[in-house]
Amino acid sequence: MGKTGMLMIGVSRFIYGEGVVMKLPEEIKRYADSAFFVGGSITLPLVRDKVEEKLKEEKIEAQWNLMDEPNSVDFTERLSKKALEEKTGVIVAVGGGKCMDLCKVISDMSRLPLITVPTSVATCAASSAVSIMYTKDTGSYDCSIQKEKEVDSVIADLDIIGSSPSRLFASGILDSIAKLPEIVNGRADMRYPAVSIFKKMAYMNSTFIYDFLTNYGLKVYKNPQADKELLRDLVLVNLIITSMVSGFSSGSDQLAIAHGLYDGMRKYFPKESKGALHGEIVAVGVLMQMRFNNDTEEEYQKILNLMKEMKMPTKLEALGVEPSSENLARLREWNIMKNNITEKTDLERLDIAFQEII
Ligand SMILES: [Zn+2]
Repeated sequence: MGKTGMLMIGVSRFIYGEGVVMKLPEEIKRYADSAFFVGGSITLPLVRDKVEEKLKEEKIEAQWNLMDEPNSVDFTERLSKKALEEKTGVIVAVGGGKCMDLCKVISDMSRLPLITVPTSVATCAASSAVSIMYTKDTGSYDCSIQKEKEVDSVIADLDIIGSSPSRLFASGILDSIAKLPEIVNGRADMRYPAVSIFKKMAYMNSTFIYDFLTNYGLKVYKNPQADKELLRDLVLVNLIITSMVSGFSSGSDQLAIAHGLYDGMRKYFPKESKGALHGEIVAVGVLMQMRFNNDTEEEYQKILNLMKEMKMPTKLEALGVEPSSENLARLREWNIMKNNITEKTDLERLDIAFQEII
C-alpha cells in the first residue's frame, strides 16, 4: 500500500466517422500552423491527396516524410531532429502500427503534440501509449518504449478504414481477440478481489471485445461497407476499447503467450516472418494461448474456424518459419523469458501449446 501509480487510458480526442479525414486541417490548427507528416508509401499519398488542398487553404505548412525503414530509435532521433529544425508544431502519423509507434516516440522526443490517422483496424497502436521498436539494420525486435502521455488526437476515417485490404481486417480482429485469452491465461476465478482492479477492468473490456468480434468480425470482414454502423462499432472496439485494455493491463502480471510468440518471431526470425502481419502472428499465438489456458474444444474450434474463414495462417510454417526443433526451442525460450514462466505445470502447458502450431 501507499504505492503511487499512473494510468494512461485512451486518448485525448478520438474523432471518428465517414470522411473525417477532412477534419484533419482543423485538428492540426488546434495545435499549430505547421505539421510534420510521417506515413507509409501507400497511405501517405492517399491522405495527402485528400487533404493537401485544404491544408493550403488553411495556410498550414506541411512536411511530408515517407517512412521507408524500420521504426528504430535511431530513425526517431533523425526525424525528431528534422521536425525541430523545421520548427514544426505537430506530428501527424498516417498508416499502420509501425508508423504510429515511430511517431509516438518522435512526439515525446521533440515535445510536440501527436495526431494519428490509422488507416486500418489493425492499428490499435494509434491510440495506445506504448511503442514497440525494432533495430535499424535487421528490423528485429529491439525494445518497447512507454509514451509520456496519451495520444492527443486520433482521426479514424471510416471511409479510409472501410476500404482497407481484408487481410488487415482479419489481422486487426484477431489481435484484439487475443486480449481476453491473454488476460485470463488459464485462471479460473476472475472475480474481484481475487484479481486486482486493473485486471478486472482489462478483463471486463476484453470480454466484450471478444464477444463482439467473434459475433460480428466475420460479417465486417466479408463486406465492411455493407453496414456502416457495424463498421463504426468495430472501429471503436479495435481502435479505442482495445487500447483501454492495454492501458489497464500495462505492468500487471500477464502470461501473454500470443504476443510472446510475436516478439520471439520478430526477434529471431525478422527476415523469415517479414511477410506476416502483426495480427497474423498473434493469431497463431492465440491458438497456442487457448491450448495453454486449457480452453474448451468448442471455443478453440470457434476461433480456428474464424481464422480459416478469414483465410489466415494457422501454423508456424505459414508465417515463414520452419518448425524445426532448433527454431521451436528458440521461440520457446523467448516465451519463457518474456512471460517469466517458472512453474512446472506452466512449462508443460507451453509445450502442449507449441504442438498446436507445428
Ligand atoms: Zn498486438
